[in-house]
Amino acid sequence: MLRRPLAGLAAAALGRVPSDGMPGPRPVVLSGPSGAGKSTLLKRLLQEHGSIFGFSVSHTTRDPRPGEENGKDYYFVTREVMQQDIAAGDFIEHAEFSGNLYGTSKAAVRAVQAMNRICVLDVDLQGVRNIKKTDLRPIYIFVQPPSLDVLEQRLRQRNTETEESLAKRLAAARVDMESCECKEQGLFDLIIINDDLDKAYQALEEALSEEIKKAQRTSHS
Ligand code: ADP
Ligand code: 5GP
Repeated sequence: MLRRPLAGLAAAALGRVPSDGMPGPRPVVLSGPSGAGKSTLLKRLLQEHGSIFGFSVSHTTRDPRPGEENGKDYYFVTREVMQQDIAAGDFIEHAEFSGNLYGTSKAAVRAVQAMNRICVLDVDLQGVRNIKKTDLRPIYIFVQPPSLDVLEQRLRQRNTETEESLAKRLAAARVDMESCECKEQGLFDLIIINDDLDKAYQALEEALSEEIKKAQRTSHS
């Protein structure tokens, strides 16, 4: 059902076709357990390559954390509004995670395309599976913590969760990590183990180096 309406979106998501006829850069999907370090890596990618990558700002029904900005980190909306917009067909994908709705709107991806940047999405595993049914054709990268114990420590240090939401996130992480390691091999193009942050960032940058080159070629053509 999603394939047809997304066909135009996906073609544009691939970026401008450079004059040498080579395909443009592909969008990037980052996934991985909550607390694995996706936002940290993404922030650095956008700091270092801000004119090349653009973040697809998702919608969520969860409350903003201190410091999070509406329209920058997420669009913070009520469940009612989000459900109406989903029913209206405004979303590429959506999922229930840890008691809240999250989703990628078509408008969010288009906004990045309009700036001629490589669109980077941060979605959970359900989002990955749903995006696989579309024509977006991104590069899929899984960011994995070194262990569940380290994940728990990082989530606690981040100081954003209640005991209840922490437990839900850890339970989801356990399922996701098993799924990626055993049951669904091939779901991701790359798995980055985020132990040392600098090394994890280097692995991310290296994995995207071809896309960065394509984007630079596109902007100069
Ligand atoms: P996610 O976006 O995947 O939920 P975050 O980027 O918010 O995860 O990272 C969770 C916490 O772990 C943050 O407080 C962050 O500063 C910290 N963190 C991320 N990567 C590392 C790392 N390699 N070593 C130590 N702490 C890290
Ligand atoms: P957080 O509440 O920690 O910001 O995000 C919780 C989880 O929701 C993370 O795994 C994150 O990747 C995922 N997420 C964020 N935005 C979206 C989205 O638009 N779609 C889906 N499916 N998951 C999302």
